[in-house]
Amino acid sequence: MISFSDLPIRENLRGLSPYGAPQKNVPVALNVNENTHPLPENVVADIVEAVSGAVRGANRYPDREFTALRDALAGYLGHALSRENIWAANGSNEVLQQIMQAFGGPGRSLLGFSPTYSMYPLLASGTDTAWISGARDEDYELSADTVVAEIRRTTPSIVILCSPNNPTGTPLGLDVVAAAYEASDGIVIVDEAYAEFMPPDAPSALTLLEGRERLLVSRTMSKAFAFAGVRLGYLAADPAVLDALRLVRLPYHLSALTQAAATAALAHSDEMLAMVGEIVAQRDRIVVELERMGFTPHRTGSNFVLFGGVDEPNAVFETLLASGVLIRDIGIPGHLRVTAGTEAETTAFLEAIAPLAPDARGGAVPVKS
Ligand SMILES: *Cc1c(COP(=O)(O)O)cnc(C)c1O
Repeated sequence: MISFSDLPIRENLRGLSPYGAPQKNVPVALNVNENTHPLPENVVADIVEAVSGAVRGANRYPDREFTALRDALAGYLGHALSRENIWAANGSNEVLQQIMQAFGGPGRSLLGFSPTYSMYPLLASGTDTAWISGARDEDYELSADTVVAEIRRTTPSIVILCSPNNPTGTPLGLDVVAAAYEASDGIVIVDEAYAEFMPPDAPSALTLLEGRERLLVSRTMSKAFAFAGVRLGYLAADPAVLDALRLVRLPYHLSALTQAAATAALAHSDEMLAMVGEIVAQRDRIVVELERMGFTPHRTGSNFVLFGGVDEPNAVFETLLASGVLIRDIGIPGHLRVTAGTEAETTAFLEAIAPLAPDARGGAVPVKS
């Protein structure tokens, strides 16, 4: 038996491990920030019908420009965006990879602020782009001063700002995005994978696009939209950015089935997003309850909570798993991350962790619904 490192593989891949949270079959999976609510049946029926139409036409290549889907995404985003501003791919991970292929590469760099989404350094390394890890302020916050100083110091080709940030949940002010754009002469990406979980009056970086042709705002249907299994991520930007991405995308990268399913789901966006309010309520409940138990949850604008005060994260993770509750150990000492689920799933998590709480002192803290 040989290992891949014995093959003539690229030097920067030698010895690496593939990315991916464990996929385990457990009753309560709260580890990868999915929307755990099932799709409404009437929406499922519409999507199935659209997909069956696409199957009948599957002898032909799909629309390379996924025009109907771009129209639907532009309509969903609003902000006077049109199809000329919208790009999409198989998950926002693929969109980000295409951005790295077009604007990164050997001799170029990507700056992010750690701890942040662990795929960023991997997407950089996969495209031979240097990863620069900037530091955050106290409690994982990020100020305009901190971001601007790091951009001036490192002059990156690409800056990526995750808003709200995964894995910390930290929301990001638009003043920081605007300042980063001014300080940089490269591409500035705002990854808004969790934007729909922010308060409805919180402005998106989409409002900054006008007149900023190096600003790219990425979104996904994987989280709030309850569509992680379909793999559809998208981007809003200046039309020139799309022309750059057309140079690196694979031909017909979005299958006819994906286009049909996503377009049909967008026609029901209100119903697809109906559970967001409920998820936000469960997230807020997690924050309150964990605090009451003596943990230290961090400020969050997403559908998950990062909490500290965990003496032995691995032991807590394993104890929860043994009772059928899967959460995430993201490698920050003393911390774990949990996704807000349905009310029942959230209760199962809180009841499982209560006996392990700092304030339990032998007796579990009772859980409120
Ligand atoms: C989950 C997530 C994504 C979405 O990935 P998809 O490829 O669209 O499923 C993007 N960015 C961040 C920060 C995420 O947490």
